[in-house]
Amino acid sequence: MKKFLSFLLIGVLQILPVAAYAQKGTFTEIKQLQSPQNPRLGFVIHGGAGVIRKGSLSPEKEKAYRDGLEQALLAGYKALQNGKSSMDAVEIAIRMLEDNPLFNAGKGAVFTADGKNELDASIMDGKTLMAGAVAGLHRVKNPITLARAVMEKSPHVLMIGDGAEKFAAEQKIELVDPQYFWTQERWDNLQNVIKQEKEKAAKEGKKVSQVDLRFEPINKFGTVGAVALDKDGNLAAGTSTGGMTYKKYGRVGDVPVIGAGTYANNNTCAVSATGWGEYFIRIGVARDISALMEYRALPIQQAADTTLNKVKTLGGDGGVISLDKFGNIGISFNSEGMYRAYIDVNGKPVIEIYK
Ligand code: ASP
Repeated sequence: MKKFLSFLLIGVLQILPVAAYAQKGTFTEIKQLQSPQNPRLGFVIHGGAGVIRKGSLSPEKEKAYRDGLEQALLAGYKALQNGKSSMDAVEIAIRMLEDNPLFNAGKGAVFTADGKNELDASIMDGKTLMAGAVAGLHRVKNPITLARAVMEKSPHVLMIGDGAEKFAAEQKIELVDPQYFWTQERWDNLQNVIKQEKEKAAKEGKKVSQVDLRFEPINKFGTVGAVALDKDGNLAAGTSTGGMTYKKYGRVGDVPVIGAGTYANNNTCAVSATGWGEYFIRIGVARDISALMEYRALPIQQAADTTLNKVKTLGGDGGVISLDKFGNIGISFNSEGMYRAYIDVNGKPVIEIYK
């Protein structure tokens, strides 16, 4: 009888979080239900969260975004189907998004306040908890590949600036002239922000340096990321970005901070984030989601929603993609939209942009 009662208690305790979750009804719908008996290959990518309202993209532009996401998704997924590792799938997809000028990573990166492109990236292996990250790059064509080299070929986790680029050259990783990253659209974005700042300063009778435009929607967002689960049950996550338009020279966001923008642990989940980096660092977003699964046994979607609510409470916005060790997906964002794509339970690609 005693045994029966304790079984009952354990059962109820396990159901409680799910019941609370269902009751609240504000969370994103749970998309997959995989189990230890029914694991699967998993692959999810994102191309950044931000102010993406329905109708704000021309049909041609929307198609270009969808095509870019789909190509990267399918390339990564195909690698997994061919038996490649989750680390490979993550790197393959992110490289493609970095090469696509539509996304704010690699070519297409946004500009800093002094008109440069400064790139950050990171990658993490859920099996070994090894990680590599790079920040403040101006010349590395594919920062995600350098992040992986830092993980695999150096004794370090995070390398920055000139030193990281010197290491890239030693590793024969492709370097380009900084001009390679220049795109008209991102340049125009920067000019627009500068103009708005001057106008605001004039209106308020302040100096330009006293005006704070961080809260204007124009400064938001980009970043690309991927999470993968391979046939051996290994999780990996990676993220790459140009940061935020008009960021101060030398500013580093959450992307290369392991546990903020990127985290992977085979016992819990793989996470890649996008959004207002300062908030994501302060919450430790990616690691927080993993901790909620580890310490409170929350399902992945609920864990992602819980952490994103903390970001919102502080005043930040953005989103995450995540995968648990069975292939369940958790996608959560509190911005208007998020470029995202995943392989569903039937092995079909799904591409989404809006809420
Ligand atoms: N999280 C990135 C950063 O703060 C920006 C983004 O995701 O759009 O650098």
